[in-house]
Amino acid sequence: MSLSNGKPPGPWHDAYQPIEDPDTDAFLAEVLELARAEFGEPVIPINQILLRRSRKTSEARRYRIGEDFSLTECVDSTNGLFVVYIGVDPGHSNYYALLAHECAHLLNPQITDWYMEGIATVFSEQACSALGKEWGDWKRHFIKSRRDPYALSYRMMSELRDAFPVHYPQLMHYTAPNGNGSARWQRINIDQWIASLPQGRHEEALDIIEPYIDVLNKHTGKLYDFAVPSGL
Ligand SMILES: [Zn+2]
Repeated sequence: MSLSNGKPPGPWHDAYQPIEDPDTDAFLAEVLELARAEFGEPVIPINQILLRRSRKTSEARRYRIGEDFSLTECVDSTNGLFVVYIGVDPGHSNYYALLAHECAHLLNPQITDWYMEGIATVFSEQACSALGKEWGDWKRHFIKSRRDPYALSYRMMSELRDAFPVHYPQLMHYTAPNGNGSARWQRINIDQWIASLPQGRHEEALDIIEPYIDVLNKHTGKLYDFAVPSGL
């Protein structure tokens, strides 16, 4: 079978397999409640979430398009229509961990930076633990890896959350245009957030972030932005 480089007809999510699973729907609803409770209401009101396993449908099999990625997208902000793609099958040990991570992105899918990735991963751990789901094989890797930017962003944000539990949920509300200049994407405005911390504690936040900036800076580009705080 030769693959086509063309774009499948219809919206992208039609090229991927729907996830139809009542346990998934129940988990998603509960996780969304937890996310709202911690971070506040979604920037774009959520009306409908389409769940997709990022595997091509048989109709789309001839197209050369990506598979096995996890991603949250708002496809229609007027109608609050979102698509969540999950890169593993239901039943995989990382399934709920990925789903909870993507759920945090539903609150503001426009933020694409390493602070947000860390927030989503830390949130995923809390949500899975609160709802009695295993957190896949992430923990051991995430506490050890020196190179994986997901692991580093997880540790950085988990330290910030421990140190500033009251101010941490506000992070998502301080945004700035993403470094690539596109109005569609945003990053977390880390300087504004640090400025909002109590007097005398700004250095503490900078000290937490500092060990992570070299590696995270290396992993910026098309996908993820990273702004080093101006105090470093
Ligand atoms: Zn993410």
